[in-house]
Amino acid sequence: MSRKVKGLMERLRAGEKVICAEGYIFLFERRCYVKAGPFVPEVVLDHPEFVKQTYEEFVKAGSDVVMAFTYYAHREKLALIDREKDIEAMNRTALRLAREVADKTGTLVAGDICNTNAFDPKVPSCRETVKNMFKEQVLWAVEEGADFIVAETFGILEEAMIALEAIKEFGSGLPAVITLAACQMSLSSLDGVDLIECFRRLEAAGADVMGLNCSRGPATMLQLLEKIKSAGFKTPIAAVPVTYRTTEEMPNFHALKDPTTDEIAFPLNLDCLLCSRDDIAKFGRKCEELGINYVGLCCGNSPHLTRSLAESLGRVTPASKFSPNMALHCIYGTDDRVNTYLRKDVKKALSGQEG
Ligand SMILES: [Zn+2]
Repeated sequence: MSRKVKGLMERLRAGEKVICAEGYIFLFERRCYVKAGPFVPEVVLDHPEFVKQTYEEFVKAGSDVVMAFTYYAHREKLALIDREKDIEAMNRTALRLAREVADKTGTLVAGDICNTNAFDPKVPSCRETVKNMFKEQVLWAVEEGADFIVAETFGILEEAMIALEAIKEFGSGLPAVITLAACQMSLSSLDGVDLIECFRRLEAAGADVMGLNCSRGPATMLQLLEKIKSAGFKTPIAAVPVTYRTTEEMPNFHALKDPTTDEIAFPLNLDCLLCSRDDIAKFGRKCEELGINYVGLCCGNSPHLTRSLAESLGRVTPASKFSPNMALHCIYGTDDRVNTYLRKDVKKALSGQEG
């Protein structure tokens, strides 16, 4: 376990920014190592080397946190694909690899728990089932040396509260980062609690960091973040949007439609609505203006978008070595060494723009 590295809360209390790259499920689905539909992180056991490499890529791109890829590595999901017997190995492997990369790079490890899909507010007995699902994952995270625990993507406040309770009870004092998915069209949790009231309850229950992740893209998450910030919470706020162009009419990625076909794009055809690097950089600068110091990217994320976020916050990352230098582009370049015919005549022919 690395103890030389400054902890999450120490950084946030000092006013430092913390970047946390997420979005592994969609990333590995795009690489054809996770099946869309069940969305179970089988790649952790099938190809641990790719998971480790991805952790490294996100750190190079500017992530201060190696989030263990244990999203959906819980009983409900593993039962769906008949791999329940692999649950402990899957969690421990994801956590161990994260610890290895974090120790090598001086970053922090986040254990990760999330919505269980086993919660039903109408069935009181499911409370215990859900809490036990959190408990085992939290204990594995503690044993494998996580520096803090993220509980994420909760649409149902009550389930988020149980996750927080499990971290407080079994997390050996590790900080709890609780993020809600503002997945409804209306501004309340799925169990009908006004969003600001959700955060009041999370703060009162001892969340160390709280905020929003997943579901909304930068454009529509920012509106909510402004409201949350103006409510004056003492707890640091987290902002981890999906990297899709959500709009006022389609505020979350479940509602987004392909502009060409007018069909719902979630989850397989979201690529046509992907944020640009500039969208992400704008989001980073806006978070800085709002004083939000825990930022990251969720579904849709890739290393180049994490790098845009990091650079928008003034960071130079190891991946900045390959940040664009368009002055040297063969057509759009401005450097005198670039062939004049290409950057003048050909540019005009291709783009209609004067060279
Ligand atoms: Zn997400």
